[in-house]
Amino acid sequence: MKLPFTLAQRFVAAETFNETIPKIIAFNKKNIKITLDLLGENVQDKSMADETVDTYMQLLDDIQNAGLTSSISIKLTMIGLDIDENYCKQNLFRLLDKAKELGSFVRIDMEGSAYTQQTIEIFKEAFTIYGNHVGIVIQAYLHRSGDDISELADVGADIRLCKGAYKEPDLIAIQKMPEIREVFKEYTKILLEKTPFPRIATHDDELINWVLNYTAENNISKDRFEFQMLYGLREETMEQFAKDGYHARVYVPYGTMWFPYFKRRLMERKENIWFVLNTMFKK
Ligand SMILES: Cc1cc2nc3c(=O)[nH]c(=O)nc-3n(C[C@H](O)[C@H](O)[C@H](O)COP(=O)(O)OP(=O)(O)OC[C@H]3O[C@@H](n4cnc5c(N)ncnc54)[C@H](O)[C@@H]3O)c2cc1C
Repeated sequence: MKLPFTLAQRFVAAETFNETIPKIIAFNKKNIKITLDLLGENVQDKSMADETVDTYMQLLDDIQNAGLTSSISIKLTMIGLDIDENYCKQNLFRLLDKAKELGSFVRIDMEGSAYTQQTIEIFKEAFTIYGNHVGIVIQAYLHRSGDDISELADVGADIRLCKGAYKEPDLIAIQKMPEIREVFKEYTKILLEKTPFPRIATHDDELINWVLNYTAENNISKDRFEFQMLYGLREETMEQFAKDGYHARVYVPYGTMWFPYFKRRLMERKENIWFVLNTMFKK
């Protein structure tokens, strides 16, 4: 059954790239950069994965031709990680060749814990070849993330730090929010010290205020890091960051395969359900 897009529009910009363009332009005018995410995950079919890579390559061209300030984010399961790791890597490298040629940037989103090890291994290999054209995401809630952060920070990788959006068991991930916040702060300190430009991805005021205070107290320039938020959430805060001279970037998902992303947004915060109902009943 195909659900109506109206349901998702609070969190998903549009179903096509063309419809997304005016929204990106509006953000860019406010000095807010974009990460575009063509939605989709867990592709099981090679022809579909190949097609996705072609679409991403075209997207990199389209972004440049439209003069947008935007990078892209991808999920490895959309380009064949469930089919075969080597095949997925070749697909990624094909995309990164294009990104390098255009001077653009591709971030590999982090998916559920079944993919963490493979994603990090593939990223490390890509990073040795494509350097600052590729970045990764670390989820603070995973018990393993302390080791991953120190290893990746030591090589100066471009890391987006977030809490983690997938339901994971105790054995794999910290469950309590105060503990997740504590490790998030610890990892932020390491990233600020060791990596050129950490990306702090959260809507959480406690963490945001902590970052603002910590960087001010330690004379860390506003040019050394970036705040990232998701489309549809706290837009005014992002505008204020940009006005105050901080780097601000909004993650803009689009496409027809929006359901899993939409579901994660509903699951992580009960207020998001009200946002959706509100949008649906607005004239
Ligand atoms: C740019 C970006 C990229 C991401 N990429 C990934 C990824 O690759 N892999 C992955 O697993 N996860 C990713 N995530 C999702 C992330 O892991 C979290 O699931 C998600 O951000 C929710 O955690 P939070 O810290 O933002 O706030 P939450 O834990 O949801 O909320 C904590 C507190 O923050 C405040 N707050 C939250 N939202 C709002 C709001 N809209 N308005 C006002 N206050 C609010 C409230 O006080 C709330 O109690 C990404 C998130 C962002 C922002």
